[in-house]
Amino acid sequence: MTTVRQMFALQELDIILDRVQDEHAKAEYELNNGDEVHTLESELERDAEWLQETKLQQKATKLEAETQKERSETLNSQLYGGEVTNPRDLESLEREASNVLQLVEQQEAALLEISGKIEEAQTKRNELESKLGEAKAAWKVRQSELQSALKELSTEKKGFEGQRSKLTEGLDPTSLEHYETLRKRKGGVAVVKVERGLCQGCRMSLPTHQQQRVRSGRQTVLCSSCGRMLFLS
Ligand SMILES: [Zn+2]
Repeated sequence: MTTVRQMFALQELDIILDRVQDEHAKAEYELNNGDEVHTLESELERDAEWLQETKLQQKATKLEAETQKERSETLNSQLYGGEVTNPRDLESLEREASNVLQLVEQQEAALLEISGKIEEAQTKRNELESKLGEAKAAWKVRQSELQSALKELSTEKKGFEGQRSKLTEGLDPTSLEHYETLRKRKGGVAVVKVERGLCQGCRMSLPTHQQQRVRSGRQTVLCSSCGRMLFLS
């Protein structure tokens, strides 16, 4: 016959097993997802692409600015060279020269902005690179910590699992199934102690006749309020 005492012992073992399994799962999760190195590497990659594009843009703007500058010089020499004398032609030449000059100024301002951004990006890249170096070193340490923790936890788990199967060998299957269903439904606690006439699972006061049935230990008594198995130590 399976006694509630045996099931209480099983539950204590299961609580420990749950903790070991939980720690094992957490360590495993961190080992698979805790690596900051990948995040930093992809950030660096993105920044490098941006830098490459921006440098191309800088080159194109520089070329365009030079072309407009040359044009501006040509227009100026036409304007002041004395070859054009017609006032109307001079006026339109002057207008064009002023337009081109404006364009040159715009492009120079754009170039200044671009080189500022490039400088910022290069500073950021240096920072990221040193961060990456640190992250790689730290991860190496953490990784080996996690690996040895996992190894220990696995051994611990195996030990407790061995104890558990020994314990459950002596239990009848129906009681065991009942215990397991209850544990799943009741937040991991299927068997509770009775102390001072109170169910320690739900804190409800138990009727005297129920307390007596628990005390006799002849059968499994369920709390009439929360449905857990009652145990008197
Ligand atoms: Zn209860």
